[in-house]
Amino acid sequence: MSMKAAVVKSNSNIEIKNIENQSVGPGDILVKMRACGICGSDVEKVFGKYGQPSMRLGHEPAGIIMEVGSEISNFSVGDRVFTHHHVACYSDDCHECNHGNETMCKKYYESNLEPCGLADEYIVPEWNVKHGGVLKIPDSMSFEDAAMIEPLACCIRAWNKFTHKNNDSIAVLGIGPTGIMHALLAKIYGFEKIFCLDFNEFRLDFAKKFEAIAINSGNTNALEQIKSETANQGVDVVIVAT
Ligand SMILES: [Zn+2]
Ligand SMILES: [Zn+2]
Repeated sequence: MSMKAAVVKSNSNIEIKNIENQSVGPGDILVKMRACGICGSDVEKVFGKYGQPSMRLGHEPAGIIMEVGSEISNFSVGDRVFTHHHVACYSDDCHECNHGNETMCKKYYESNLEPCGLADEYIVPEWNVKHGGVLKIPDSMSFEDAAMIEPLACCIRAWNKFTHKNNDSIAVLGIGPTGIMHALLAKIYGFEKIFCLDFNEFRLDFAKKFEAIAINSGNTNALEQIKSETANQGVDVVIVAT
């Protein structure tokens, strides 16, 4: 079997490569990629500023199962799925996992999609399949929406690290895709005032669609504006998403 994958050839240079001789093992799943998000870390890998060893591109892929290994019984050909690239062990014996630090788990770093998510087809290894790394998505969910599962999960994970109350106020610094997700989560969690700060007017206009208070970061009165809208209190939560 041969797969086409986007790989980093050299700094600022991506190549579509034919990856030969991939085979689906008894516990593996083969997925045809239909949508894959481009993460900020992918951009860093391409432009040479990434701080971690893996150079694989694409870890937000959703698609359709094309083939399942002989030992797979809970997934079938044709299932629409989102697939995680790294999957922790979630074992009670794992110090990192039982302290809620799944992204620090050794197995988390060792696991990955083959050859990567930014490929026409890719293999989800047995480890990922067995440890909850494959999620069936409903027919009503587009592949593009499903590709947001991993980045949204990162945001929700951040929200689980602090406490907040109904009608609290928040400032989101930087409202690219991640910042917008934080602003929307704030809305879902019942925040009353949601301040979105960015230099980019397009992004500020986008934030206004969600009834956020958009403030240009270049505005030297930003602090006064936030204080005046929060009874001089300032915000309860600040999220840095720059
Ligand atoms: Zn990412
Ligand atoms: Zn673990």
